Amino acid sequence: MAGGPETAKRARQKLIAAALKAREQAYAPYSRFRVGAAVLTSSGRIFTGCNVENVSYGLTVCAERVAVWNAAAAGERELVAVAVVTDGAPVFPCGACLQVIQEFAGTEPPVIIAANLEGAAVVRSLSECLPCAFTSFKPDNPEAGE
Ligand SMILES: [Zn+2]
Repeated sequence: MAGGPETAKRARQKLIAAALKAREQAYAPYSRFRVGAAVLTSSGRIFTGCNVENVSYGLTVCAERVAVWNAAAAGERELVAVAVVTDGAPVFPCGACLQVIQEFAGTEPPVIIAANLEGAAVVRSLSECLPCAFTSFKPDNPEAGE
């Protein structure tokens, strides 16, 4: 996120607040693990998502992917930061969600913020969370074809 440390901190707090609000809509009757997510795009817009479970379990979708898909459906193609809010210890996105975030990563790896209801927040970059991301079929991948 551009700007000084205070600007970055405020932007993170705003993103966490959006994720916290999105968590209120979580549909988690099976796990009772309610998750909210918010993504900040390169145009400065914020999109949110909550986890949506399904009785078949396998069709359950994480909050992070719902947020990314909301951004993509609005025409956004570059993520700057992703915040995830849960109850208990902060948790980072699962591997599937990290791969979906990677799809919309810009030249700078998105910042991933794992936060909880008590105000704790742990910050990592996407490349720290997913060091060996699958990218070889991206048409603009300079390493493609090597
Ligand atoms: Zn996930």
